[in-house]
Amino acid sequence: MVRILLVEDDDDIRAGLSRALTQQGVVAAAVARAGDALGRLAEFAPDAVVLDLGLPDLDGGDVLMMIRSLGTVPALVATARDDERDIVRLLDAGADDHIVKPYSAAQVLARVRAVLRRTSSEASEEAGPVTLADLVIDPLGRRPGSPTMPSR
Ligand code: CA
Repeated sequence: MVRILLVEDDDDIRAGLSRALTQQGVVAAAVARAGDALGRLAEFAPDAVVLDLGLPDLDGGDVLMMIRSLGTVPALVATARDDERDIVRLLDAGADDHIVKPYSAAQVLARVRAVLRRTSSEASEEAGPVTLADLVIDPLGRRPGSPTMPSR
């Protein structure tokens, strides 16, 4: 069973999403503050973390860096629609994906599954020889210096 740690300070979103994830067979743990997230990360040992960008006690980017410093658990960052610069910054800082709010449990779960497929295939690639000559995977099509398109 997939274990997801949800870090979300909005009580309604946190309760609703963890209930919905649980109904889909996920073992979910949920915390409201970044400070609690780091402790839960160690004891709950999730397969993935869903991290709200806007938390009351710490900046989401700082939380992400702390999560990264603790290990390689996939981290999905949830942002509001207009946070284009934040999304780029967070992906560059080590986020594995981002989710635009408002999001459904089905979407969160699908994105977690996609990230886990990627990370587990990376693990199996380490086990045997795989040739990926000249293959460049660039899911977001981001290029250094490319213009930032407004989202509306
Ligand atoms: Ca928030």
